[in-house]
Amino acid sequence: MTEPNNLDTLLKENRTFEPSAAFIAQATVTDESVYQSASEDPQAYWAQQASYLSWSKPFSTILEWDPPHAKWFSDGVLNVAYNTVDRHRENGRKNKAAIIWEGEPGDSKILTYDMLGREVDKAAHMLIHLGVKKGDRVVIYLPMIPELPISMLACAKIGAIHTVVFGGFSASSLKDRIIDADARLLITADAGFRRGGIVPLKQNVDQAIIDTPIEKVVVVQRVGADAHSTMIDGRDLLWHKLIETMPKTPFAPEPMHAEDTLFILYTSGTTGKPKGIVHSSAGYLVGANTSMRTVFDIKDDDVFWCTADIGWITGHTYLVYGPLSAGATVVMYEGAPDAPDRHRFWNIIEKYGVSIFYTAPTSIRTFMKWGHDIPQSHDLSTLRLMGTVGEPINPEAWMWYHEHIGHGRCPIVDTWWQTETGCAMIAPLPGLIKTKPGSATKAVPGIAVDVVDDNGTPVTPGHGGNLVITKPWPSMLRTVWGDDERFRKTYFGQFSGMYFPGDGAHLDEEKYIWILGRIDDVMNVSGHRIGTMEVESALVDHPAVAEAAVIGRAHDVKGQAITAFVTVRDGVKTSPELMTELKNHVVVKIGAMARPEEILFTAELPKTRSAKIMRRLLRDIAEGRALGDTTTLADPSVVDSLKLQYQDKE
Ligand code: ATP
Ligand code: MG
Repeated sequence: MTEPNNLDTLLKENRTFEPSAAFIAQATVTDESVYQSASEDPQAYWAQQASYLSWSKPFSTILEWDPPHAKWFSDGVLNVAYNTVDRHRENGRKNKAAIIWEGEPGDSKILTYDMLGREVDKAAHMLIHLGVKKGDRVVIYLPMIPELPISMLACAKIGAIHTVVFGGFSASSLKDRIIDADARLLITADAGFRRGGIVPLKQNVDQAIIDTPIEKVVVVQRVGADAHSTMIDGRDLLWHKLIETMPKTPFAPEPMHAEDTLFILYTSGTTGKPKGIVHSSAGYLVGANTSMRTVFDIKDDDVFWCTADIGWITGHTYLVYGPLSAGATVVMYEGAPDAPDRHRFWNIIEKYGVSIFYTAPTSIRTFMKWGHDIPQSHDLSTLRLMGTVGEPINPEAWMWYHEHIGHGRCPIVDTWWQTETGCAMIAPLPGLIKTKPGSATKAVPGIAVDVVDDNGTPVTPGHGGNLVITKPWPSMLRTVWGDDERFRKTYFGQFSGMYFPGDGAHLDEEKYIWILGRIDDVMNVSGHRIGTMEVESALVDHPAVAEAAVIGRAHDVKGQAITAFVTVRDGVKTSPELMTELKNHVVVKIGAMARPEEILFTAELPKTRSAKIMRRLLRDIAEGRALGDTTTLADPSVVDSLKLQYQDKE
């Protein structure tokens, strides 16, 4: 019997990987009972995790839950910057590297906790000097340079709310966010380096701030060239000149209530108008800190490298707040993986002895496309743990990562989470959980997830449906900035009392969770609901394919027909024969109903600036519609050329 409310699951993946004895021997969490005890009493679990932070006033209540609003540790007081920087200056890590920064052109800088603390204090004095008060919003539009985390932490120190806008966003995207956040101060740079080229940040700012509340712009000189030419007297100020004049005295951390807002971050917009996701101070930090210890197994001698840009939640949580709250050493790289050549990432791992590496499936597929001989020519033996985030990882990409980067030695933590969740929700604890390529495995301790049908009834193992989070958690978003109704509707409108992230998932017989992609992207072919991830994974399984995006296009008979957009690996020639071979490969891997009706070869897929495939635009192309919102595309020319290619085909 077909179950109309469920997602059909087609792809079978049976490989499993146990953590090695060597990994288990040193792992932080090895007692399986943590899952049981945390699920029996999640509040006690989170209260215990909260004790890893330093509170200036301890909390006495743990959770107040008035769905959809949660308050965690609400009568507690702390300061996030104190927790991420200053306390490590006092606890023996003063001279430990906090941030190892590598610039794209080859310059580099190491900031110890003590040095970072002094920079943050100067920047905090500067913010106050510029009239910023507790609760004010500060927009940060910077490249991946040390002033970015310094600015964020300075905001946290004085209690201002930062909103970081990714440096790749255009003037108009920046403007929308400035207006929505109602900010008066903006911190930017003259320009940024990207793939050898120059991104004109200050010029974008000049355009973006017209008719916005921005009164002052602080400009970091990164590139140097023409920074002065566009400086406007009384409005624009140079960071390095201003900071020199600030008091050198320590800045006393502003005592913050647990529920005070730490930051607003706009989601990338894969699915439409960006939302300002609001995160709290204490709950967010508890989540970020906990996952560093449990999911990332962080130790004092680790060198942790998260390749995400700080403009995304992954960079907020795993480049700034998570690792620094844990007193870890984090690598921050300014540029692209192929600048100046395709060896750059592996050079960085060798140069700094990176031990934990966290990147995205899209990067892994790019490395696959470039060929494994590139990483093979490097010594990657310092790596001990690797992670992925951002999209479902195709099993073949997982295997490639495991073999060619981890050399079969490093557990892989596939971490499912969102801007809204603040930290990793579904991920293996690497010393405890057997992994399966393509599955993010199970919810972390203290997090309750389920897979439900469209009526909200949990599916039985072996079935698919909607992923939900059934209980509140400390680092959950508190609201959508300025639009609480949108918060209610988007996340709590579908299933009463449960958080709905918008993703589809399959629950296997061992209750492992397989994320199948966004529910909006799910296809319906002859009555079968098929997630995009499975067909894409079947394509990526073929040795000629590096990356694939599939969509359901309206079809008279089947309801929807599958169109696949495929990028081949370097050196592979495309041909009509290859097209037929790929269609057959999908049939062999998962069955005739998933056979793509058509395949288009393309050198690039349309991706957001956070490097996620934008399937809704591919649907627009395949159904001959005008393209929807394209403002968050990394490279708009990709869709234009695909559109032409698609029309030519017909
Ligand atoms: P918007 O919500 O504006 O469309 P976005 O969803 O792309 O933007 P993020 O919060 O960065 O913005 O992305 C979260 C989404 O990324 C998840 O909902 C999920 O679809 C996907 N995702 C993240 N990590 C994983 C993972 N490990 N496995 C599968 N999917 C993942
Ligand atoms: Mg989203």
